[in-house]
Amino acid sequence: MKTLVILGAGTAGTMLVNRITRKLDKKEWKIIQVEKEQNHYYQPGFLFVPFGVYKPTDVYKPVRKHIPSGVDFINSEIEAIDPQNNKVTLVKDKQALKYDYLVIATGATVRPAETEGLQESGWRKNIFDFYTPDGAEALGKFLESWQGGRLVVNIAEMPIKCPVAPLEFIFLADWFFTKKGIRNKVELVYTTPLSGAFTKPKASAMLGNVMAQKNIKVEPDFAISDVDGSKNVIHSYDGREIEYDLLVATPVNMGAPVIERSGLGDDLYFIPTDKFTLQSKNWQNVFVLGDASNIPASKAGAVAHYSTGVVLENLLAHMNGEEMPEKFDGHANCFIETGFNKASLIDFSYDVEPLPGKYPVPGIGPMTLLGESVINHWGKLGFKYLYWEILMRGWGVPLPEKLSMAGKKTD
Ligand SMILES: Cc1cc2nc3c(=O)[nH]c(=O)nc-3n(C[C@H](O)[C@H](O)[C@H](O)COP(=O)(O)OP(=O)(O)OC[C@H]3O[C@@H](n4cnc5c(N)ncnc54)[C@H](O)[C@@H]3O)c2cc1C
Repeated sequence: MKTLVILGAGTAGTMLVNRITRKLDKKEWKIIQVEKEQNHYYQPGFLFVPFGVYKPTDVYKPVRKHIPSGVDFINSEIEAIDPQNNKVTLVKDKQALKYDYLVIATGATVRPAETEGLQESGWRKNIFDFYTPDGAEALGKFLESWQGGRLVVNIAEMPIKCPVAPLEFIFLADWFFTKKGIRNKVELVYTTPLSGAFTKPKASAMLGNVMAQKNIKVEPDFAISDVDGSKNVIHSYDGREIEYDLLVATPVNMGAPVIERSGLGDDLYFIPTDKFTLQSKNWQNVFVLGDASNIPASKAGAVAHYSTGVVLENLLAHMNGEEMPEKFDGHANCFIETGFNKASLIDFSYDVEPLPGKYPVPGIGPMTLLGESVINHWGKLGFKYLYWEILMRGWGVPLPEKLSMAGKKTD
């Protein structure tokens, strides 16, 4: 028997284990999956928890629910990965797992301790994040009784998971306070290390316009140096100071601590990975899927989804001593909730920036690219069902996994 070990059973690890179980000969291959959590979180749902659209209990399910039978599933923290000796050690019983092939899908974590002062006096009092289940829940409780003031959203540094999530947060905040009748008492300020609302020019211009329409002030090129919770101010390295009454922080995102402990990552603990084959740059029998890699694609569930087929086919080919057939194109798409029951949609890749148009049927849609629509909003909310019932069971959607130019306006 040969052994495939999959590390992590979040978005990427769960999709892969379901798909690969159907392909590998059970008489020849043993599949082991290791995950530390009891619950699998639907992270896109964290955005809606502070505004009461979802309850904290709406965004998770037991992790084992989506693990197929026949997989040796181990609920344990991974202590270390030792690719030189094809070995993984676990915290539980100090167990050592030997493998023939390894897939690392340990994701990215937020690291508030990386920003000076962020976790000091105001943390979870008037400073919150919504990138963790407890952060989103605590922020929701705070917002129930907040009477207004200056709400500052900050992105500490790129890359972050779902780069549009902080934008969506501030758009929803505009809607939430309008609905509560206190929008005139709330000043909304968006501070970002980017030079505009988003990384890509056309999307940045479109989203910048939405910000202006909603009277949200953008403070670009703001590289945060520290938070002074005693004075309720944040500072940037170039000497700017911004006051807040409520700070919604998107802390530094880094690879999982186990990647740091095992010495496998770059300076942000993301694993050097070939951006086309998704094979580790250092170890031929190791593939990296989802947020754990350092490929220059968005850290997004959509990217994990579109790249699962690439890892699957390349892994199977490599196991059979064949040339790897698949090349990942960096395909990502994401609904951007803009408030008042509307959303936008972006669809892009390594080479193609988000463009306006219709998706998925050219000229018809029903989704609108780089424009706001009610149908996009229902697409965003409907995605939760698709996530649990289709994607996490390892089934596909009848849309191309590679970026398609059909329906996109290029001029
Ligand atoms: C607020 C927010 C909004 C988002 N919105 C969207 C969106 O609208 N669209 C979109 O496409 N994406 C969105 N994302 C991003 C998306 O959730 C992630 O990109 C996706 O979950 C990545 O999948 P992954 O499997 O790589 O990582 P994860 O799903 O994070 O899974 C990693 C798993 O590895 C486990 N693990 C890590 N270390 C260890 C260890 N030492 N031992 C054992 N297990 C370990 C973790 O417990 C976890 O279960 C959002 C994320 C956030 C935070």
